[in-house]
Amino acid sequence: MIETINETFNQISFQNTLTEIEQMAAVSEHHPEGLKKEFDLLREIGALKIVLPGEHLDFNKPNMPALLTLLKDVGKANLSVGRIFEGHINTLYLIHLYANEEQKNNWFEGVKEYGHLFGVWNTQAQNGIEFKLVNDKLIISGNKTFCSGVGLVNRALITGNINYGERVGWQMSIVDMAKITDDKINKETWKPLGMKASGSYTVDFSGYELTDDELLYKPGIYLKQPYFSGGAIRFAAVHLGGAEAVAHNTIKYLKELNRTEDPIQRMRIANIMSQLVAGQLWLEKAGENYDKWLENKEFEQNLIAFANMTRTTIEDICLRIMDESNKCVGARGLMAPYTLERIFRDLTFYLRQPAPDATRLNIAVFFINKNNVSYGTNI
Ligand SMILES: Cc1cc2nc3c(=O)[nH]c(=O)nc-3n(C[C@H](O)[C@H](O)[C@H](O)COP(=O)(O)OP(=O)(O)OC[C@H]3O[C@@H](n4cnc5c(N)ncnc54)[C@H](O)[C@@H]3O)c2cc1C
Repeated sequence: MIETINETFNQISFQNTLTEIEQMAAVSEHHPEGLKKEFDLLREIGALKIVLPGEHLDFNKPNMPALLTLLKDVGKANLSVGRIFEGHINTLYLIHLYANEEQKNNWFEGVKEYGHLFGVWNTQAQNGIEFKLVNDKLIISGNKTFCSGVGLVNRALITGNINYGERVGWQMSIVDMAKITDDKINKETWKPLGMKASGSYTVDFSGYELTDDELLYKPGIYLKQPYFSGGAIRFAAVHLGGAEAVAHNTIKYLKELNRTEDPIQRMRIANIMSQLVAGQLWLEKAGENYDKWLENKEFEQNLIAFANMTRTTIEDICLRIMDESNKCVGARGLMAPYTLERIFRDLTFYLRQPAPDATRLNIAVFFINKNNVSYGTNI
């Protein structure tokens, strides 16, 4: 639960909405409209605009712990909704950091007035995105893979190579998805183990004509630190929400079967809950450190290292919780209609995020280069 309440965001409606989203998850996974209803509900309670200026978790204020808690709670209700919602928040953050005033007004207005949903699609295969000058027009060619929420997303931040004039490198642009026809979306590519409802299809953007005001800042800025690596704490928060759902449903299942008196089951529950609380503490501290260190160049590497450790530790915690839960509930508990069947698939698949090995190596390098391995609040 997010910590404070104000008039712009009603905590009770939010929790009720999440309960509704959780209850719909089994049906939504196979629904032809995907997660439309879920995002209509989030839109209605003001969750899509929550980080905009003057709103409850305004990016201009140090709100990271509360934002992480919000992401965790959405992930707990449905990991696919959490994935798409995190992409929306990520895009709004990139706009907050890098857009000019006119662009900010335009894109933020879209969220406030029309309830626009945003997404960030950076991942691609060999036939990735290029921005090319053709007859004085800037035209996109190529595809993006893993486009979570396509079909629901109104404005998509896509990245690609650009090479004209002074613009050389990895450029961000925000495209209007109303101009992308259905035949450009390849659903055949999406046959995942879990996270089916995130509808992370491949999209062909070839032929889209970009205007200057759809280019977001200069090439290269997408990878700017500490924002790029530091942002991993947001998806880690959603992951931990999935682990919370596993813990909750494991205990619920054991209670239903009157199996909570057994000492071995109790030992496993103790292990699950200790792991979960450890994850919650990591997340809380990661949020505090993010706010404390963001504006201080001296702590940039600390912020990145702490975010890297949070992400990898929460990945391990999720895996351990699933392992213990798996043994607690056995085969019967892992079959539909029990909820754990889907959550295990979703969490297992969603835990696979970019460069997990390199992230761990970077943690090692940070501490090797440091004179002192002990850390308090300042690592
Ligand atoms: C549900 C879901 C939704 C997603 N939604 C989006 C989205 O909306 N937008 C978006 O941009 N992306 C999205 N992604 C993609 C995501 O950001 C990652 O790019 C993707 O999950 C990483 O895929 P992978 O595990 O196949 O990576 P890989 O890079 O193939 O990594 C797999 C393993 O190989 C190792 N490895 C990597 N490179 C090498 C190498 N050269 N040599 C040896 N080993 C190597 C890694 O360390 C790792 O252990 C989504 C992913 C998922 C699962």
